[in-house]
Amino acid sequence: MTITIEDLSYAYPNQEPIIGIDHWHIDQGEQLFLYGPSGCGKSTLLNLMAGMLSIRQGQIKILETSLKGLSRHQRDQFRAKNIGYVFQQFNLIPYLSALDNIQLACYFSKRSDAVDDRIHTLLNQLHIQSNDWRKPVANLSIGQQQRIAIARALINQPSVLIADEPTSSLDRANRDNFMRVLMETSEQANTTLIFVSHDPDLENYFNRSIDFTQLNHKYSCV
Ligand code: ADP
Repeated sequence: MTITIEDLSYAYPNQEPIIGIDHWHIDQGEQLFLYGPSGCGKSTLLNLMAGMLSIRQGQIKILETSLKGLSRHQRDQFRAKNIGYVFQQFNLIPYLSALDNIQLACYFSKRSDAVDDRIHTLLNQLHIQSNDWRKPVANLSIGQQQRIAIARALINQPSVLIADEPTSSLDRANRDNFMRVLMETSEQANTTLIFVSHDPDLENYFNRSIDFTQLNHKYSCV
């Protein structure tokens, strides 16, 4: 099992709890679609799973590592090594090139093996032309930037890939292209994919879908 959650509860400081999950598990290689209304806690759950927020009550285990037992620094290291994250707004550094943005992710994971080869392979796989690799990413199209964000998330061959509403700023053609590439690349690497969206059209791409309001049934937000 890649991910297990037990008796997880979370509240932001001085706020009512918004996350309450009894038990959830996700197997290695699953491609999972998590959907639900805005403001219910989906990003909060992803941030807990990625170790960006610290767990106070309950347990999240990823690849047999309990996140609760780790310091912030250890969680950052664990994430750099094991978890790829594709954000809604890409979070690329706009004045750096595709190569430099991706290289930065390698730097944080402290992996230095065949970095250039792996970056070139991924950029080719994601259909970024080599004459665009050295341009500041701000000069590239939104669709290209989003594919570079996938390359950055996958460069360290993470076991788990988390994508939080990654298609919300894409038009339909770019969205469909993005989805095809994301599903293919994560399937080839047997990456566990957790994909959050409120776009029901995307459900068909996945082999399992979960209604967040059912999963998080202790706290109704609608
Ligand atoms: P979703 O991803 O389902 O849209 P979020 O996890 O972003 O939901 O937000 C869930 C709730 O937590 C919202 O009411 C939001 O305002 C609140 N929230 C999100 N981030 C913070 C934060 N850093 N501090 C306090 N409240 C927050």
